[in-house]
Amino acid sequence: MLQKNIWVLSLAIVTSATNVNYYNCTCEGNGCWGKTCVGRTCFVTEERLTNLRDIHRVQGCFNSQLIEHCSGRTENTRINCCYSDFCNANITLFIIEDKEPVVTSLVLVTVLPIVLFLILLIPLTFLFWKLKQSSRKKSLARLIDFGNADIVNASTVGDSTLGDLLDDYCTTGSGSGLPFLVQRTVARQVTLLKCVGKGRYGEVWRGMWQGENVAVKIFSSRDEQSWFRETEIYNTVLLRHENILGFIASDMTSRNSSTQLWLITHYYDNGSLYDYLQRTTVDPEECLQLAVSIICGLVHLHVEIFGTQGKPAIAHRDLKSRNILVKANKQCCIADLGLAVVHCQNGDYLDIGNNPRVGTKRYMAPEVLDETIRTDSFESYKQTDVWAYGLVLWEICRRTIINGMVEDYKPPFFDMVPHDPSFDDMKKVVCIDQQRPNIPNTWHLHKVLSELTKTMRECWFQSPSARLTALRIKKTLNNLKNSLDQSSTISMHILKTND
Ligand code: ADP
Ligand code: MG
Repeated sequence: MLQKNIWVLSLAIVTSATNVNYYNCTCEGNGCWGKTCVGRTCFVTEERLTNLRDIHRVQGCFNSQLIEHCSGRTENTRINCCYSDFCNANITLFIIEDKEPVVTSLVLVTVLPIVLFLILLIPLTFLFWKLKQSSRKKSLARLIDFGNADIVNASTVGDSTLGDLLDDYCTTGSGSGLPFLVQRTVARQVTLLKCVGKGRYGEVWRGMWQGENVAVKIFSSRDEQSWFRETEIYNTVLLRHENILGFIASDMTSRNSSTQLWLITHYYDNGSLYDYLQRTTVDPEECLQLAVSIICGLVHLHVEIFGTQGKPAIAHRDLKSRNILVKANKQCCIADLGLAVVHCQNGDYLDIGNNPRVGTKRYMAPEVLDETIRTDSFESYKQTDVWAYGLVLWEICRRTIINGMVEDYKPPFFDMVPHDPSFDDMKKVVCIDQQRPNIPNTWHLHKVLSELTKTMRECWFQSPSARLTALRIKKTLNNLKNSLDQSSTISMHILKTND
């Protein structure tokens, strides 16, 4: 330091003596003793390094004013001289190519938002998933509350048969099902054996629970509202009736990170009425038995029963031969309550549910097709069920042997609309042309079929309020059944007395 000060001092003396200009310069780089130096020329050199971005800069001073020191320039090296105090302090020789900043700003403009978006997306997706899970859990909690208050230890399922379990629990609970934990335990002990139905709804399997056959309906995730609705209705409403499909359990599980929705019911080997009628023909007696059993199930759904063992009124909204099952004793039971609406006279409470699904187009009543149905009135929904019942009756009658004659199985309106009719196809036939399924002449030859023909025609009035009620149909068909039973007992009696 002392050496440097002496040198600066001596230069100053020389300067004043010879009148040669010396300047203070910024000094940075090899050979600098400090941040400044004194010389006749201040200079800056810059060398651009091979990465083309970094610059190696040297600032300092020359003790001469020789121009050749200040010349010489290559692609990657530059030098600049100047002649005033600290004139080399702020000189920049290389301007970094504009390309780099452009690339950088391009990266900033395009990549950064994407990165930010992704960073935000992950927690948002997680949040959304959590919300969905919690709303599911809430719905389930609602179902648990609806179902049963007394939570029973799952181990109590033990070695009971389904009949024991249902007898034990279903007379005490508010709904027609087992306590929720028992339902879950049963569901998880079921072994799936064979897929018996497949379609837009999901799948129906024959399963086994402790040696007994059960039906397991596995809902597709896009039809989860049907599972919610069916589970809710079975758990809240006392629906035990021989003509309503018997409910056993409902379960929601997570398998391979997807939710599986199960509904476990009694299993019937004959399958649906639709399946049954494809395979089998029936005699008039069996025809009437099928018809009576279905209307008994429908009446049980439609009526509100008051009292502790009561139930609200329910309209099915998707009655069809595929949603009716045939039991071994040739009685039918109504299945698939995924679209049902519930009504309580008390406070005129109407619960239409939250299911975006609509009924089956082929079975839609005219007021549904032309959209004049009064959706706020429970009566309207019952009237659409009666329309559909008339069509089911027609399907059964076609398969009834009369004087050795029988029709092959066909769905309603098979000869008027295409295979998978659209809403407009059905509307044209049912509302505009006001067509109805054809009634063969042979049906008038037999008392049962001519009565059933009369009934179905009264189910098909264009005006919903003109149609028969389910209760009226039940009474008419029961009277018909009784009169047949009586005449058969009389003829048996005559036969016996003749003997
Ligand atoms: P979806 O209306 O969603 O198609 P369903 O409950 O109507 O579902 O069942 C579809 C089909 O599965 C029925 O048409 C029938 O063939 C068969 N099936 C449903 N439940 C049972 C059951 N309990 N026993 C035997 N077969 C059944
Ligand atoms: Mg169905």
